[in-house]
Amino acid sequence: VNAWKPEQPEQVLSTLNADGSRRWMRPRVSSGRFLTARRWLGYALIALFVLMPYLQFHGKPLIFLNLAAREFTFFGFTLLPTDTLLLAIFMVGLIVSIFLVTALLGRIWCGWMCPQLVYLEFVYRPIEYLLEGVPGYHGAPGKRATPVRTMVKYVIYLLISFALAHVFLAYFVSVEQLWRWVHESPFTHPLSFIAVALTTGLMMFDFCFFREQTCILACPYGRLQSAMLDRDSLIISYDAQRGEPRGRLQRTVPPGTTRHGDCIDCDMCVDTCPTGIDIRNGLQLECVACAQCIDACDAIMDKIKKPRGLIRYSSQAQMAGERKRIIRPRVIVYPLILLSLLTAFGFVLSSKDVADVKLLRGRGRPFFERTPGQIANQARLRITNRADADATYTVRVAEDTPATIVVDEPEVAVAAGESKIFGLLIVAPRSAFQDGRYDVEVEVSDGAAFRTTASYRLMGPRGALPAGPGKERGDGR
Ligand code: SF4
Ligand code: SF4
Repeated sequence: VNAWKPEQPEQVLSTLNADGSRRWMRPRVSSGRFLTARRWLGYALIALFVLMPYLQFHGKPLIFLNLAAREFTFFGFTLLPTDTLLLAIFMVGLIVSIFLVTALLGRIWCGWMCPQLVYLEFVYRPIEYLLEGVPGYHGAPGKRATPVRTMVKYVIYLLISFALAHVFLAYFVSVEQLWRWVHESPFTHPLSFIAVALTTGLMMFDFCFFREQTCILACPYGRLQSAMLDRDSLIISYDAQRGEPRGRLQRTVPPGTTRHGDCIDCDMCVDTCPTGIDIRNGLQLECVACAQCIDACDAIMDKIKKPRGLIRYSSQAQMAGERKRIIRPRVIVYPLILLSLLTAFGFVLSSKDVADVKLLRGRGRPFFERTPGQIANQARLRITNRADADATYTVRVAEDTPATIVVDEPEVAVAAGESKIFGLLIVAPRSAFQDGRYDVEVEVSDGAAFRTTASYRLMGPRGALPAGPGKERGDGR
């Protein structure tokens, strides 16, 4: 408690006023080495986000999330709909990697790379400060704010959000498709137009209104911090041993008074915090590790000629005087899990053929008599071409069986990386069926290295035959 400074009202949440209303955050910008580095990284990430849909690797986009086809391309490698296991291993690996990075480096992602903070701090907020003026002490609004300037700000926000929503959409539909849509009327592709409008609306809601609440309330990663961090994780901490007791700067210490610590209680670290917390109260879930309080405090330390680092990157253990410990159980266990997942991923991948073949039962009646004494079953064959080149497949039943396959096209062309489902009839003589069943092997081959067989159980009559094929009759297409 400071005798020289009026006591602040008690706060429940940093973003709530005492009467429960929203306390708007207007953090002061604190220049310094971390802000400079974060700014450069932020602009590089924005450039990467915008350019990525245009970049290709091995003839494929770097990242392409084709939800309609359920295909996901990452750096030239495409996970197809049949790669559920690979996708599951990839997702688990991603989660474990997040756990590992957080255990080592704390919320480095939030403060330095998360799009929420990057766009808010380096795109939207600078525009606000440019038009309305920089905030004053304790988050007082900028002095140049007028209704016209505020309206101009929102128009600029809308244009930026609209452009970013298009870039976002390009990750899901490809750049070529996006450009075609941009040059056409929205009525020719209403769904994509709605997707862009919704994304723009969400961005406006987030960057105009919700802002730091996304980090504090909505982000699940932020909520899980306490489980992911340990005492040795890198966090941003205030050195209470050095800073306390905080108080006005003392050039000399009058006899009978206590010598103040290095913290002069200027509140610059609080005023600059985008989530409005006071880092001097210790590690808090609201801290997004943006390092703005470090820059703010370092500038103060420079001014009062004290060593920098009163607020710094450290760990709870180090702040308590314990030695730095990098190797610890979770830092060993997580990489071991990652290694196992990587091995499993490689194993599953290497066991994949250049094509996946799946023989599915046809729709409608299980069987019918196609010609006297010949029982036909409808089936559907799905071929996924995993190779980088288009391929043509032939389908037939294995030799030495009395069954035959009836298809419209004797050869089926499937483009590289695509799946195709087509119908076929498998016909066998009635005499081949025992207890109403007859098992056949269907062989699919591309005429080169790929050849596989799929088992299929034909259904047939036990007694009287069902009435004619009716509408189920045909080639199953
Ligand atoms: S900026 Fe540094 S000196 Fe000022 S209140 Fe924060 S910790 Fe204390
Ligand atoms: S406490 Fe410091 S590092 Fe944490 S969010 Fe606030 S300014 Fe950023």
